[in-house]
Amino acid sequence: MTRTTTAGRARSRRWFLTGGAAAVPRRGIAIADACLAGVGVVCQACGDACPERAIRFPLRRGGPPLPVVDEDRCTGCGACVPVCPVGAIGLPEGRA
Ligand code: SF4
Ligand code: SF4
Repeated sequence: MTRTTTAGRARSRRWFLTGGAAAVPRRGIAIADACLAGVGVVCQACGDACPERAIRFPLRRGGPPLPVVDEDRCTGCGACVPVCPVGAIGLPEGRA
């Protein structure tokens, strides 16, 4: 899903619940449906680890916030990968 912000600048692509294994996007990390937030467990470890603040957790009804990746901010540095307790994060193509 691609969204345009109010300023029409940063595009955010939500790579959550991609259906099994992490899809490999051209830019930005991919977050597979193993993510704990999707099964009702509060976790924001990846967002805390991101030096670019590229992972946001917008509030939602009915469960803990889900991670949303801003592809324009994500550099593919990989800092978020090892902190995920369930290995749900995949790096962009060529960054593995
Ligand atoms: S790869 Fe780096 S910049 Fe991208 S979301 Fe993870 S920690 Fe942030
Ligand atoms: S660290 Fe892993 S389990 Fe936690 S919110 Fe990020 S992707 Fe989901």
